[in-house]
Amino acid sequence: MIYFDYNASFPIRQSIKESIHDYLNVFGNPSSVHFFGRMARKMIEESREKIAHILNVPLKTVIFTSGATESNNTILKGFEGPVILSAQEHDSVFLARKDALFYGVTMDGLVDLNHLENILKETPPPFLVSIMSAHNETGVIQPLDDAFELVKKYGGSIHVDAVQSLGRQSITDWARFDYITFSGHKIGALKGAGVMVIKENASFNPFTVGGGQERSFRAGTENVLSITTMGLAFDEAYHEDWQNSLKARDYIQETLLKEHDFVFVVGKNVARLSNTLLISMPYVKSETQVMNFDIHKIAVSAGSACSSGKVKVSKTLKAMNLDLSIAETMLRMSLPPNPLKEDVDMFLDVWKSIFNTCYLTKEDLKT
Ligand code: PMP
Repeated sequence: MIYFDYNASFPIRQSIKESIHDYLNVFGNPSSVHFFGRMARKMIEESREKIAHILNVPLKTVIFTSGATESNNTILKGFEGPVILSAQEHDSVFLARKDALFYGVTMDGLVDLNHLENILKETPPPFLVSIMSAHNETGVIQPLDDAFELVKKYGGSIHVDAVQSLGRQSITDWARFDYITFSGHKIGALKGAGVMVIKENASFNPFTVGGGQERSFRAGTENVLSITTMGLAFDEAYHEDWQNSLKARDYIQETLLKEHDFVFVVGKNVARLSNTLLISMPYVKSETQVMNFDIHKIAVSAGSACSSGKVKVSKTLKAMNLDLSIAETMLRMSLPPNPLKEDVDMFLDVWKSIFNTCYLTKEDLKT
């Protein structure tokens, strides 16, 4: 199988596979004071140190959770005051607050900061603005510095969903943001661990209460193993080189644009994550493409992975005002840091063969 779905989940890193057996011997409850508990506690704290060091944020601002969905829900639901979101946020942000206010997205997939400013003018602080640093479906890198300046000009707090960004986008001064979220499995750790970085004195209400773990920011026994692997993955992800990915992505994009009319690339004219390509196959629905690629042993996606397995037109593409007939023919490929040439060529061959078969028979057009 060729795996081109790195934005959905990054394969578990080799270094983690090699070291995991040692960690499996550590089973104590990290809150226990005896030797076994202290061993587990040590693993968690080492992970926290690595993450705080890489982000250059105070140690105690790093809080472990079960993943980015929990981090996003916790921060947004717990915020006392209006929350303002772009219409293209991940559902764990988008659906977290029924009373959220929404700002728009441009046709290039960038958040519309003029629209945001109009909302901020009408919204007295305290308020929270949430922004994804880079989009999981389109790969579009968002104007984080400008959004930060704007939010601070109007006296609000800012939350950055940085799940897709570590080592893939240059972000300076993480410590300035009020809230940041990360997910372990998106950077090659085991599933079941995430981070929320909460600036000192930022307003916060915990989602879980109980044993007072994580300085009472997130009660519940920690997932020691996943958290440990996340610390290791943070280090590697931060230093990852994505240059080969960029070359392969651009090669695929240019080949398809050159050889086929009416192929549409989302965010083509703006900065994107180097591994991400959201591209249409004229007249062939996303789900038909994904199924056919799978039959040809290539794993790609129709945008964001949906737990039901169903494909529906993404709200991001709707927010961008993309024509529905194009939006429903989108395919997302998200490459590894070092894609193999033969895999890239295979992808192009299969793309062309699916297009020729499905487009010429107009299979989808009958439905
Ligand atoms: N935010 C973004 C931008 C994501 O891509 C994802 C995962 N698709 C999440 C949040 C949720 O992360 P998790 O899988 O850790 O719950």
